Formats: sequence, structure tokens, C-alpha cells
Amino acid sequence: MATAAISPDILAKYEPVIGLEVHVQLLTATKIFCGCANRFGAEPNTNVCAVCLGLPGALPVLNEKAVELAALAALALNCEVRERSIFARKNYFYPDLPKGYQISQYDKPIAEHGWIDVPTEDGSMKRIGITRLHMEEDAGKSLHEGFANSATRTYLDLNRCGTPLIEIVSEPDIRTSDEAFEYLTRLKEILLYTGVSDCNMEEGSLRCDANVSVRLKGAERFGAKAEVKNVNSFRFIRAALEYEIERQVEVIESGGQVVQETRLYNANEGRTDSMRSKEQAHDYRYFPEPDLPPLLLSQEFLERKRAELPEMPEARRKRMIAEYDLSEQDARTLTASRQFADRFEAAAKTARNPRRVANLLLSEVAGRLKALNLEPEQSPVSMSGIVQAADLLEENKISSRQLKQLFDICFEKGEDFGAVYEREKPQQITDSAAIEKLIDEVITANPGQLEQYRAGKTTIAGFFVGQVMRASKGQANPALLNQLVIKKLGS
Ligand SMILES: [Zn+2]
Repeated sequence: MATAAISPDILAKYEPVIGLEVHVQLLTATKIFCGCANRFGAEPNTNVCAVCLGLPGALPVLNEKAVELAALAALALNCEVRERSIFARKNYFYPDLPKGYQISQYDKPIAEHGWIDVPTEDGSMKRIGITRLHMEEDAGKSLHEGFANSATRTYLDLNRCGTPLIEIVSEPDIRTSDEAFEYLTRLKEILLYTGVSDCNMEEGSLRCDANVSVRLKGAERFGAKAEVKNVNSFRFIRAALEYEIERQVEVIESGGQVVQETRLYNANEGRTDSMRSKEQAHDYRYFPEPDLPPLLLSQEFLERKRAELPEMPEARRKRMIAEYDLSEQDARTLTASRQFADRFEAAAKTARNPRRVANLLLSEVAGRLKALNLEPEQSPVSMSGIVQAADLLEENKISSRQLKQLFDICFEKGEDFGAVYEREKPQQITDSAAIEKLIDEVITANPGQLEQYRAGKTTIAGFFVGQVMRASKGQANPALLNQLVIKKLGS
């Protein structure tokens, strides 16, 4: 796995410096400069035309929707959006780039100077800067496997040529692999909330490269950096960074020098391997794209986009923690996707006590989903079912024990709460005399607890309520039971 073990003491002398470059495909219907469908999974080389194949004489036309999504993403990431940005040609040769250049943005990108706040180890928040966000087109794909003669042949699928991308470049503000993981998690969440991309890493809609170097703590100059590519999950990014940090420290400690280069992450071996020496920007001979005019965005357009932004995940969590009395962790669970959070809040609003809905969802429903290894969307109990259960509890029409039994049936039979409740109609004991008799029995059986209660430990009343509820097989009316226990204990 890792390199020859470096002692933690030696590792602690160094400070890693990490910057991330994230490519995100935008959710447009068509490509960025032509009318071809922007869709994953089509037959190879079927979504192509003269423009995205770069045939001579074909001219690009900028997709307005791609600009809108890029602007939305930029605003969601707290960037300053330029009123005038310039497309540029990035020249390089690669078989999956038929034009011989990629249309990108260089010194005048659409947006700059953004940030994301990420939680750190000590629980405080740290601001990670975003240097720039620019628009560009994706390249095609070289297929090295999956064909009978793949051992000797590489195939090209050019469907991806011209897929609209934004590239989001962070400042080198990240200091640990955990911070990198958090940054990516938050970034993805913001992009999903904003609806600009599906961020599906398996399909390549979100791809991440990491620049990493190490320096002695206190040193001002950055060390030589390696760019780690080909990492297709956030978990792997964390592992690749940990490996790379140790590798570089080991090189320096053994008297060597870290070489500036591009390295590929090998997930099977858990290590990075040298791929090629790193290009410098001048190797690409950037120049302004002659076939596209400058991109001009009015303040009015930007204000309109800003107004379209949904409540961002971090702000939503803060509000929900206060509104539903949640822990940070619970708020994270409820806001894991915007759709889920929307469904929850729409339902909770209709309940007598919205906090109870949150509580049932997080405890009773989440626990059962987890035990059965189900996703929230697969829950047999709908949001309105949870609201119904919460209201019945709130009105003391069922006890929490009865509710648990009803939920058990829902999950066993795959039925919603309403149907199960109608059929089972759990009985309630509302006869005071019957409940008092049970209370008397419990009090007689627990003289020690009674003593404590009388000595002033009034919280022990809960113990008696629990015992009597159990004795009633969960059927005692909870409100009546509470009231009678207090009365009996006091008499
Ligand atoms: Zn095309």
C-alpha cells in the first residue's frame, strides 16, 4: 500500500500543499458549440457532427444554456463573474482530440475568486479559495479495453467531444487529504443543489486532478509539485494524496529531489506512478479563439441567475438545525440531497409538530432502512406516512411502542404507514381505573425508585411511565398514563 514506512515524526516535519482541479460536465441537452446531443452511453461516434469533429470550415456557436449553468455554478461558489470573458485555444495533439486544440478559457475566464468553507479536524470551518472557474469543451475518449483485439488496438469514441465543461481550480489552500475530501464533498453537494451537473463520477461527469507538494513546516516556498490524475472517487483521492505525500517526503528525506511531473493513480496497487513530465502553460500556445467573440454577460443577467440559486446546503443545514432541533449529523442526513430535503420539509410543514417528523425519519425510518440496506427512496413508509404517524403520536392516539410495532409491519410487508394503521388499529387503554391498577403494581414492585422520587429525584417518574407502558403491552394512552403516574407518585 503506502511507501516504505515513514515515521510519523518525520512526516510531521513537513507540510503538504494541495490544490484541486475539478472538471464538471454541465447538464445541457446539446453540446457546447454544436447541436449534437450531450448524452452519456450512446453508441460510439453517433453524437458527432462537423463542428465537434473539427472538420475544416466548421464554426462553433456557443450554447446559451451552458453559459447559464456555468454562471449559476460560479455564483453558487461565491465567485466574481466577469462581464467579459474570452475563449482561447489550448493546442495539443491527442488522438481523442480531432481538432488538435481544445476551446477553453485562459487569462480571462468566466469567473474567479470564489471559495468553499470546509470543516476541519477541530470542528472549526476553513475557507478554501477558488482561483478560477472557466468554461471549456471536453475531448473524446480512447477505449483501451472491451474489444476482442484490445491488446493490440485502441478505439476512439468521439461522442464526448464538445461536451460542455466547467473547470474549477482551487487555491493551494488545502493542507491534508481529509480537507481535500471535505472540499470535494462540499463542492459536489453545491453543484448538485444548483442542478448544473449530475456529478456522476462513474460516468465521468465529475473528474478530479490533484496538485500536491510538500515543504518543511515554516518554509515559504512551495516544493516541486506532482499532478495526480485518473482518480475516480473521493475516497481514492484521499488515498492517492496520502500515498503521494509520503512518497515525496521519502524522496526528500533520502536526499533526492521531487520532480515536477504528472502521475497516475493506480487504485489496485494503491500507489501513484510517473506518467510524463508536467507541461507548462506555454507548451499549449494559448491564443484567443478567433471563431468566437468575447462572451459578454450583463449585470441584469447575473442578477437573474443569482435569484435562481436555491438555498445552499450549508445555509440550509444551519437553518434546519435551529428549526427542527437537529444535531449537525442529523442535518447532514436530511440535506444529503436537495430533493430529499425538499420532500422532507414539504411534508414536515403539514405536521402538527415538524420536529417529530424529523425525529421519526432519523430514528425509526433511517434505522430500519439501514438494517435492510435500503436507500431512502426505497422506504415503504412515505413522507406523508411519517407525518401521519407523527400526528398520531402527538395526539397521544398511539404510544411510541405501538408506533414501533406498526413500522415493523410496514417494513416487513413493504406497506405504507396509513394502510397498516387502518388495518391494525392498535388498541388503547383509556380506562383510568385499569391504568391506575397497573401503576399501583409497578410502584409496589419498585420501592427503591419510589424512595428516590420522594427524595426529590422527580425525573425517575419516566422510569415508572416506561414500566407501566410495558406492563400494558404498549396500549396505555400515553397522556393519561403520564398524568396518572405523577398523581400516584405524589399521593
Ligand atoms: Zn456536434
